[in-house]
Amino acid sequence: MRNYYIAGNWKMHKTRAEAAALAQDLTAQLKDGKHQYLVAPTFTALETVGAIIKGSNILLGAQNMASEEQGAHTGEVSVLQLKDLGVQVVILGHSERRHTYKEDDVLINKKVRLALKHGLEVILCVGELLAEREAGKAENICETQTIQGLQGVTAEDVARVTIAYEPVWAIGTGKTATPEDADAIHAYIRGVIARRYGVEAAQKIRIQYGGSVKPENAAQLMAKENIDGALVGGAALKADTFVPIAKFQ
Ligand code: PEP
Repeated sequence: MRNYYIAGNWKMHKTRAEAAALAQDLTAQLKDGKHQYLVAPTFTALETVGAIIKGSNILLGAQNMASEEQGAHTGEVSVLQLKDLGVQVVILGHSERRHTYKEDDVLINKKVRLALKHGLEVILCVGELLAEREAGKAENICETQTIQGLQGVTAEDVARVTIAYEPVWAIGTGKTATPEDADAIHAYIRGVIARRYGVEAAQKIRIQYGGSVKPENAAQLMAKENIDGALVGGAALKADTFVPIAKFQ
């Protein structure tokens, strides 16, 4: 039985003081929450937020990391530095990394393997552009991104991977995939995992939905058989909107 996993991606928002205030609110308001939670603050607030959520039911996530362990990589942040800050999970392959910063599947796969090698959990984001959906290629794009993102990942390590299906046209746009459309892609991705890792691994892997998740649509999305949680952007920036999603009924 998969438990729901609700994650908040704070992107490039919030000073340390603002991040601390939100982390305090969430820790207090989610302490009786029934699901698995995660917040991913910007790098500069990781230590501050980590100290506040330590010992709670909220995991500490980073939004990205370098593909190399260390060395001459100006401006990058390494897996060792994330671990040093207490980071437990890293989000990789987010559509903003893929499309704004031109990260390809080969680079994302290198990061996935490095994170897993160092004991982190991974949220691997996949999802199609609007033009790709309209051309009937949504399943194909998600399959390629899943297979290539997990290239070289063992059956044992895939247990520490969550997939986030985030149709790019739904991210930050207010447009949400219908629960039926999202569930169909989630089921398809689960089939991809079954072919690669077996039915048991496919039944266990959690597949989050991301793309304009709000308090108003969370419950309908989560009611679908293959939707195991949410990766939330805009609505994760305030407790008023994140808590109702995290406690959806
Ligand atoms: C995201 O960035 O992962 C995301 C899903 O954003 P939003 O919820 O704002 O669409």
